[in-house]
Amino acid sequence: MSEALYMDDSYLREFDAIVEKVSNEKFIVLDKTAFFPKGGGVEWDTGSMTRKKDGKKFEVVFTGKFDGKISHEVSGPGLGQGDEVHCAIDWERRYKLMRYHTGTHVLCGVLSRDYGLLVTGNQLTTEKGRVDLNMDTMNVDLLKEAFSKTNNLIEKDLPVDIYYKSRKEAEKDPTLFKLAIGFPHDIDTLRIVDIKDFDAQADGGCHVKSLKEIGRLVFQEAVNKGKQNRRVYFTVE
Ligand SMILES: [Zn+2]
Repeated sequence: MSEALYMDDSYLREFDAIVEKVSNEKFIVLDKTAFFPKGGGVEWDTGSMTRKKDGKKFEVVFTGKFDGKISHEVSGPGLGQGDEVHCAIDWERRYKLMRYHTGTHVLCGVLSRDYGLLVTGNQLTTEKGRVDLNMDTMNVDLLKEAFSKTNNLIEKDLPVDIYYKSRKEAEKDPTLFKLAIGFPHDIDTLRIVDIKDFDAQADGGCHVKSLKEIGRLVFQEAVNKGKQNRRVYFTVE
């Protein structure tokens, strides 16, 4: 598997890499990458790859994971195996997604801790966030209160730490898997995203270093989606 640089450094915006494989002329696998692939309900990174030998620039329009490898879809053909490239991710887009992602962890932590509500799915874009909640009857006042608690926590500016644990060790603490929708169960080492003294989750995504970077979560609306499912929309401002 190509090395995922964003795992250890979510703030890495540019890096050099070598093209390992090209499929159908425009799906590129690199020896290492900082591009986050679509996953865990979070949108993908975009950006560019510039070939070093001739300066030709290729836009990265989508990043996904296929057969366990991170694949970058570029705008046109031309890249070949062995090409050295300089890569830059669209930082404005990525940083917004990081703020949404960490913000969602805080919200889910509050919902679980204070109301015993479980998040069963999420979808995060640069425009809005959505979580699906296991909630018997719709209670908008409760949701608004949860958002206000979330913002109080963000104000406290708790640090967000990232470290690794063995699966064996992690499985002793089921609270680590609150948000782990479809978390792969075939890996031995889990990456933990830990909002200090508040909430730790097994997670493979990109996060801000401290809560204040998120800004504020703003409740938009909640709709009924099935018998027990309430779908909640919010923005990060
Ligand atoms: Zn997450």
